[in-house]
Amino acid sequence: MTAPLSAIPWNTPALWCEANASLADALRTHWSALAGNHRQARQARRLLESIFPRMDILCEQACPACTDVCCQRAWVWADFRDLLFFHLAGIPPPERQLLSQPGDHCRYAGPDGCRLERLQRPFVCTWYLCPAQMRHLRQTPAEMKKVSESLQLIKRLRREMEASFIEAVA
Ligand code: SF4
Ligand code: SF4
Repeated sequence: MTAPLSAIPWNTPALWCEANASLADALRTHWSALAGNHRQARQARRLLESIFPRMDILCEQACPACTDVCCQRAWVWADFRDLLFFHLAGIPPPERQLLSQPGDHCRYAGPDGCRLERLQRPFVCTWYLCPAQMRHLRQTPAEMKKVSESLQLIKRLRREMEASFIEAVA
């Protein structure tokens, strides 16, 4: 199934620049009202950084033998919560949206994997664990619990960041 072109937000360089500039401007204008957002973003960043070593191991275990590379067929992009998190946490956003139009492959998918730093990837790229990775992760229940709980907490923080941002700028 093909989604309409409009489903991909900020899919041109101009729209992407405009979205990031507008967000940066809103954060400057409402800086003092957004102290809670900055705390949430720092917490989300710490949680992400705490699970990245495990994610790296899962990729080393599962990806070299993969014959159906997820990033070559992923229909994903950075959404508003991703942009907000990048700006609040001081992470440089990717130079462009991942896709421009239906049928595209992610522009950051390279022969050796993703060319973005892990922190710069949309959350969906961290959240998604393929069946092969899940099989490896299940072999270490304590790690599985830590990764699952961290991902759930990050999801909650992202929702809260968005809600309090909207409240602050409204
Ligand atoms: S994450 Fe899973 S589906 Fe994606 S490339 Fe690695 S093994 Fe393949
Ligand atoms: S941003 Fe990276 S991890 Fe996400 S789909 Fe693109 S290549 Fe894959």
